[in-house]
Amino acid sequence: MLPWLEHRYQQLASLALRAELPHAILLTGNTGVGKDQLAEALLALLLCQQPQQHQPCGTCKSCRLRLASHHADYWHQTEAEGRIGVDVIRHLTSFFQSRAQQGGVRVALLPHAERMSEAAANALLKTLEEPPQQSFLVLTSHQPAMLLPTIISRCQHWPISVNDAEQAAAWLQQQSQQPVPDFLHDMAVSAPLQALQWLQSEQALEAQELLMQLEQFVLKQHDVQTVVKALEKKSVLTVVLSWFIRQRLPELVSLPQQAHWQLLQYFQRWCRDEHQVLGQNKTLALTALLLELKRLST
Ligand SMILES: [Zn+2]
Repeated sequence: MLPWLEHRYQQLASLALRAELPHAILLTGNTGVGKDQLAEALLALLLCQQPQQHQPCGTCKSCRLRLASHHADYWHQTEAEGRIGVDVIRHLTSFFQSRAQQGGVRVALLPHAERMSEAAANALLKTLEEPPQQSFLVLTSHQPAMLLPTIISRCQHWPISVNDAEQAAAWLQQQSQQPVPDFLHDMAVSAPLQALQWLQSEQALEAQELLMQLEQFVLKQHDVQTVVKALEKKSVLTVVLSWFIRQRLPELVSLPQQAHWQLLQYFQRWCRDEHQVLGQNKTLALTALLLELKRLST
C-alpha cells in the first residue's frame, strides 16, 4: 500500500472485516493521490476468502481469480476517457443483480464518477437506493462537485489526501531515483503518483520550461502574446500555473497578501472556466489571466 494511504486503508479494512462497511463508498481527492489504488485494495480484501492481518491472502481461489483478472464477481469500469453513459450503469446494475459466482460478495469500482451523464447518474441512484445484498460499490472522483448531490448523500464519503508531506516527498525521491525539482516536491504533497508520472516522462521538463517562461514574463518585459503561445495547449499548464501562483510568485516579487489573494481567486475562476470555454476564447482567457498576474505583481 502507498504509505500515505495506509491509515485510510486500515480504517476501511477494519470496517470491512467487522462487516460494517456501507454498500457504497465515494473516495474523493486529487488526481494522482491514489484513490483507485486504495479502492482496489479494499475490494481485493472484500473478495478474499481468508484475509490475513487486514490483507487479502493472495492464494485463495478468489484472490487467484482476481489476480488473473478473471473474477466474475469483480466489476471494474476501465474506460479511461469520455462520458460514462447509461449503458455502463445498466451493465453495473445487472452485475449486482446476478448471483455471486464464488459464493461471496460482489464488488464494483467506478472511477471518474464525475464523468457520468445525467441519465447514468439517475440510473445509479436507483441501485444506491436499493442496494443488493452482499454488494459493494466504490466510486472515485477528483471533482465531486460535478456529482449529483443525491449520489453523494447516498454514499459514505471518504476524502483522500496526503497527510504527511515529508513522507510523500521521500517516497517520490525513492521511486524516481533522480533529483526531484522543487515544483514537483510541491506536487508530491497533493498528488504523489502524478508527480512520479511526470518525472518518468517528458512532462517534468515541459513543466520546467513553462516555469521559466512565466518567471521571465513576470520579471522582464516579455510580450504577453509570446508567453500565451508558449503556454497554451500544454497538458501541464494548470498544474504549473497553480504552483507558480501559489508558491513561486511570492518569492519572485513583493506581492501584498491582498493582491495574492485576488490572484488566487482569479486563478480559481480561470480553472473553473477552463473546462467550458473553447478555441479562441481559451486563448483570451489565458491572456487575461496572465495580464492580471502581471498587473498584481508589479
Ligand atoms: Zn484470498
